[in-house]
Amino acid sequence: MTDLLIVGSGLFGLTMAREAAEAGAKVTIIDRRDHLGGNAWSEPDPETGIEVHKYGAHLFHTSNERVWEYVNRFTSFTPYVHHVYTTVNGVVYPMPVNLGTINQFFQAAYSPDEARALIASQAADIDPTHVDDNFRTKGISLVGKPLFEAFFEGYTSKQWQTDPEELPASIVTRLPVRYTYDNRYFNDTYEGLPTDGYAAWLTRMSDHPNITVHLDTDFFDPESEFSKSRTVGNLPVVYTGPIDEYFDYREGDLGWRTIDLELEVKPTGDSQGCPVMNYGDRNVPYTRIHEFRHFHPERAETYPKDKTVIAREYSRFAKRGEEPYYPINAAADRKRLKTYHELAATEPNVLFGGRLGTYKYLDMHMAIASALSRFNNVVAPFLSGETK
Ligand code: UDP
Repeated sequence: MTDLLIVGSGLFGLTMAREAAEAGAKVTIIDRRDHLGGNAWSEPDPETGIEVHKYGAHLFHTSNERVWEYVNRFTSFTPYVHHVYTTVNGVVYPMPVNLGTINQFFQAAYSPDEARALIASQAADIDPTHVDDNFRTKGISLVGKPLFEAFFEGYTSKQWQTDPEELPASIVTRLPVRYTYDNRYFNDTYEGLPTDGYAAWLTRMSDHPNITVHLDTDFFDPESEFSKSRTVGNLPVVYTGPIDEYFDYREGDLGWRTIDLELEVKPTGDSQGCPVMNYGDRNVPYTRIHEFRHFHPERAETYPKDKTVIAREYSRFAKRGEEPYYPINAAADRKRLKTYHELAATEPNVLFGGRLGTYKYLDMHMAIASALSRFNNVVAPFLSGETK
């Protein structure tokens, strides 16, 4: 017997499942992949044993106390703090943009106030009433034109292949800009990587007597026991797949970017000296290179001394059926999304959640926070109404 069907076992689906299971509901999770956890899944590389983030680097960070307490029920975290560097025109700079980046770029020794004044003068062309209009206006207002062109334009043209004036400002404000030498990538209070890996963490979340997981099970396969046609209308459903796919793309496709990761085992103990190196130049075809051993310095003794695993990351538009990673959110997408939201409102027993189900650039901690609050506000009252 199932009280609630969850389609997709990423962090939104798993959190929702766990909450419902702990509240006494019998929960079935289905996922079309052969593993759970969505894109956060990681696995040891078979040759080296180094933990590889199968769908690109996932760094856990949050300032939300409730989320931090929640995730710590299922895993402990290492003290890992994320740092990123970027190579532009043959020189390596710290990212996100900070006083070190600014002084290195201008070969100068500006104080914080001097650097602020310089960047403000280099952003003077942006009309203050239009700063938040798009990625370009926001980006230039934050770092000035020369730094925007060096560090954002090339990288963003590869990552999004979309005119920065079409992209929302919220993409660039993901990155802090600091007038100190602090080059931590994130600003959050809590940060770390799951001590024994993402697979162990995510599997523990699903490990509950009221949760049943069916992998290799496609909601859109009419033959499946848990297909859309067999379940919607008969069971409450939490759907975390792409919202446009749910409605058979009837209002048109929402734009997504996907990535290809090219893995390579290199015969050295250290290939690039840091976990992530971005490449700002357009003529370098990849956006960044991950070197996975650096995510777990505490495992140095167990990782091989003479081998390392890197992944070059290439970005491209996702076609239907390919793995969607990043919602593009251009004006045409926002218009379509509005119509999909109207359609979603006509499906009273289906809750759309997670990055794919809401078409929002949610980080892991945001997906968890969203699932916790939507469980309390929507699913719990619904389930208790059902059982009355
Ligand atoms: N970005 C950039 N240059 C960089 C790093 C980031 O232009 O060196 C831009 C790019 O458009 C990217 C966005 O900032 O999509 C957000 O970066 P973040 O590192 O948050 O991207 P994610 O890790 O989610 O891919």
